[in-house]
Amino acid sequence: MNETCLLPGPVAISANVQRGLHAPPLYHRGAEFLTLFENVRSRLAALTGAREVALFTGSGTLANEVVATTLAALAPPRRGLILENGEFGRRLISQAECYRLEFTTRCWPWGRPWDLVDVAHLLEGLPPGSWVWGVHHETSTGVLNDLPGLVSLARQRGISVCVDAISSLGGSPLDLRDVFLASGTSGKALGAACGIAIVFVNRQPGEVWNRSRLPTYLDLAAALDREGPRFTFSSIPLTGLAAALDDYSSASRIRKRLDDYAETGRFVRSELHRLGLNPLAEVEHAASTVTTFAPPAGCSSNAFVEHCRGLGFLIGGQSEYLARRRLVQIATMGATMTADCARLLDKFKSDFTFACDKEPHPALRIAR
Ligand SMILES: *Cc1c(COP(=O)(O)O)cnc(C)c1O
Repeated sequence: MNETCLLPGPVAISANVQRGLHAPPLYHRGAEFLTLFENVRSRLAALTGAREVALFTGSGTLANEVVATTLAALAPPRRGLILENGEFGRRLISQAECYRLEFTTRCWPWGRPWDLVDVAHLLEGLPPGSWVWGVHHETSTGVLNDLPGLVSLARQRGISVCVDAISSLGGSPLDLRDVFLASGTSGKALGAACGIAIVFVNRQPGEVWNRSRLPTYLDLAAALDREGPRFTFSSIPLTGLAAALDDYSSASRIRKRLDDYAETGRFVRSELHRLGLNPLAEVEHAASTVTTFAPPAGCSSNAFVEHCRGLGFLIGGQSEYLARRRLVQIATMGATMTADCARLLDKFKSDFTFACDKEPHPALRIAR
């Protein structure tokens, strides 16, 4: 890829991670692999405060699949609530339907955060022991939902929180100490290559999972209880992930990483504002690593993405759920620099004038 990558996955890979990806493959039952695997699990637990971590070969969606199937195996069955304010919340609902979970949903319009006053009322209606599941950073809109707020509401009522933390892991402060199940991936804000699905777990004493209902490959209990992987596991993304975790190896490194992400995010949002391209998420709910906005009037998502590609930048907008709403997004995950974004935003400035009475730049005058 010669273009600068401003996609929410794959993300730009640092030289350190790149070196990890070029290490020779290791046998997944060998001692060196086992040490690496267990080291990555414990570093991910330390990073988030989760007691246990399981790794699966797959993308983030697989980690959500594991969460859904684990909820379906709770004995006795427990009811739940799913929060939706974008594409990834919608996907949780369809996964939950597939596993025949018993749940209700609460939806908010795209770009709006969870309304916890609303959620508090809904939690009142659920028996203790129920679960609530939602997306922390809703990547489709760039909204960072209030996970600590949800956790504190749920804890007061004895309700278990499950969260899709796929794009917040490594990109935003993430405290999973009081979260039952959470999903993550190697390939987003942690800045590694994709290919490893991560599940964070805090099992409750006395909690029973009906093992006969857990599909072999997705059996979280078996994955947690065992040292090393249960099935063939490629060491290549794992070595890359271990290298990426170097950026999170101490409190000060984590702070620096998150501060850098926050600064880049603020820069992108404020420059877009100045161009009249207002981010969908309001400033107080905006995630650092993804900014979703509508391209200039008259320009489709695809046309805008193509225009940026012509300028040497890959941005998001080709996914059906963005294109249909005429949205695009700049993601600043992985080894992306504020300077990379500045080059793109400078080009926007010279390319088109956003005064209402001016015609858009010829490259953007493309029918929807
Ligand atoms: C990217 C993403 C997913 C899906 O992850 P894949 O790696 O594409 O399977 C799910 N949820 C959120 C919040 C995401 O950002």
